[in-house]
Amino acid sequence: MGMGLLIDATRCIGCGACSSACKEQNKLPAKVEEVLTAYTWTTVQEREGLNVRRLCMHCEVPTCASVCPVAALKKTPEGPVVYDSERCMGCRYCMMACPYEIPKYQWDRPVPVIGKCIMCAGRVKDGQPTACAAACPAEATTFGKKEDLIWEARTRIRSKPGAYVDHIYGLAETGGTSVLMISNVPFEKLGMKTNLPSDPPAQRTWQVLSNIPNFVGVWGAFLFGVHWITARRDDVAKAEHHTNGRGDRS
Ligand code: SF4
Ligand code: SF4
Ligand code: SF4
Repeated sequence: MGMGLLIDATRCIGCGACSSACKEQNKLPAKVEEVLTAYTWTTVQEREGLNVRRLCMHCEVPTCASVCPVAALKKTPEGPVVYDSERCMGCRYCMMACPYEIPKYQWDRPVPVIGKCIMCAGRVKDGQPTACAAACPAEATTFGKKEDLIWEARTRIRSKPGAYVDHIYGLAETGGTSVLMISNVPFEKLGMKTNLPSDPPAQRTWQVLSNIPNFVGVWGAFLFGVHWITARRDDVAKAEHHTNGRGDRS
């Protein structure tokens, strides 16, 4: 089941420590924007008197990864859905496919790629909590084994009848996610998407695509083109590196 995050909206005090810790951990520009951007991977929004975190849900079967033509996104065994900006070719398929509208584009860059929370994959692999969980002073964001987080969420809901909506957001949505949320206000009022299927949309990606006439041939040609562009970009980068290595730094 891997690791995950449990976010309890009833405990969040809106201090923003999670957002600031994320910025520092991932060497992102310090300004925390109100909405997710390619440079703000998590933010806290006020809804219905609660403070609600926004971030990638780290789907168990990520639709973003299923549509990426160059495999820049992938689910790791530990839980995070990681992203390789070196591979990304900026096509934005992941942005269009994500049911939670998470990946954001570097609109200000000449060669843009996307940005999103990577669930502190390096820290998680080393057995450390995510930076946002470590920074949270109110235990509103908790890091741990997903099975333990589910148990904790169920315990909080059952031990205080009426204090929570009887739903763990992310347990079933889109086939389950590594980020789970609980709240005392219905999730649709918090701006969360609630009309999501319980089976992973990613499983339908290929069913849908393969029904398009000539898809296989067109897709094959497309992938060949992608491969060629990516290889060409790597060649150019290597050549530039080589040139710079000879002292040409004008
Ligand atoms: S929430 Fe979106 S970006 Fe995050 S893993 Fe799921 S599909 Fe990918
Ligand atoms: S924008 Fe980048 S990460 Fe997203 S689908 Fe395209 S290549 Fe993959
Ligand atoms: S898990 Fe890591 S990358 Fe994701 S929001 Fe928290 S600090 Fe940022």
